[in-house]
Amino acid sequence: MRYRDDIQQSAEYLRLALQHMTRQAAGLHPVSYAVWYDYVAGVNPALKKAVEELTKGGNRLNDEATYELYDRYIADISDESSQRISARIERIVADVAESTARAGDQASTFGGALERCSEAIARPQDPGAMTDALQDIRSNTQAMRGAIDTLQARLEASQREAAELKQEVHRVREEALVDALTGLANRRALDRAFEACLAGVQEGGAGPCLLMLDIDHFKRVNDTYGHLFGDKVLQAVGKALQANVKGKDTAARFGGEEFAVLLPGTLLDGATCLAETLRATIAAGRVRNLNSNETVGNITISIGVASYLDGETTVDLVARADRALYAAKTLGRNRVSVAGRDEQPAVA
Ligand code: GH3
Ligand code: MG
Ligand code: MG
Repeated sequence: MRYRDDIQQSAEYLRLALQHMTRQAAGLHPVSYAVWYDYVAGVNPALKKAVEELTKGGNRLNDEATYELYDRYIADISDESSQRISARIERIVADVAESTARAGDQASTFGGALERCSEAIARPQDPGAMTDALQDIRSNTQAMRGAIDTLQARLEASQREAAELKQEVHRVREEALVDALTGLANRRALDRAFEACLAGVQEGGAGPCLLMLDIDHFKRVNDTYGHLFGDKVLQAVGKALQANVKGKDTAARFGGEEFAVLLPGTLLDGATCLAETLRATIAAGRVRNLNSNETVGNITISIGVASYLDGETTVDLVARADRALYAAKTLGRNRVSVAGRDEQPAVA
């Protein structure tokens, strides 16, 4: 979970974020809120640095810059969720603004009553005016207390709503990193894992290694048993990956019937061994066909394994693992192939 701030802490961040948001040229929408929440909470150093750079010399962030920061440093959220959250933030801000304005109006009425009272004190020869002024103060004090109570209740309600909103933002953000069919990490999450992993790579250190996996003859599986069964196979492969890939390692659906497993700090031998376990587990599994209630076996995958070479980009590493996968396919499928340093894949 990205955010663990309790209600008091997050309400304080909301207050600080609002201060920043109202100083920018961008609208008070959830994208701004996410950017400034991360900024004030200090949980996103890269974003903080970029914001500081962009707001140097009193520069104000417009919508375009805010969206760009969001896209670059914070996960996307769907349009629908974004509109829903946006409407709720607008309501919180409007509610607080309205109650504050009402309390303000009441305060100036109260000020008027005090002035009338001080004028009456200056005219001791008119005791009637003094009685009226005191009466006036009394009723105004009650009205003022009512306005403050309302403001306090509204602020408390807004604080609760802000906390719910924060949870909703977390949920949609987390959803944005998960593949809906298999529950594995999606491409965006894999890209992030790559970024974090390559940032921590030390020259000459172990790994990382990457496995690229592809279901064999999957088109045939779909053609024979139908697309829904195909989806069940994808889920079964997802489960096998989830069961065998743990901790700092990331198993992701790369797209269609292809998967990737990123193994930070892992030597090629260990990665090849895991690939072999995954291959054997999936080959030994059976998937129930709900149409016929029979179980179908013979679902196999081919895997390409590559170990990171110093100076390589993510694209280079994926390409080498992919070439090894292709070699496994040409050599007969249902096997693991290891990418060599010289680009000549060798079958494990
Ligand atoms: P190979 O062993 O060479 O990988 O053969 P293949 O049939 O698995 O490969 P090909 O690329 O020809 O076909 C992939 C198939 O995967 C075609 C596509 O319809 C299917 N597919 C991709 N995504 C999904 C999905 O989400 N659900 C289902 N059921 N099928 C999918
Ligand atoms: Mg494929
Ligand atoms: Mg395939």
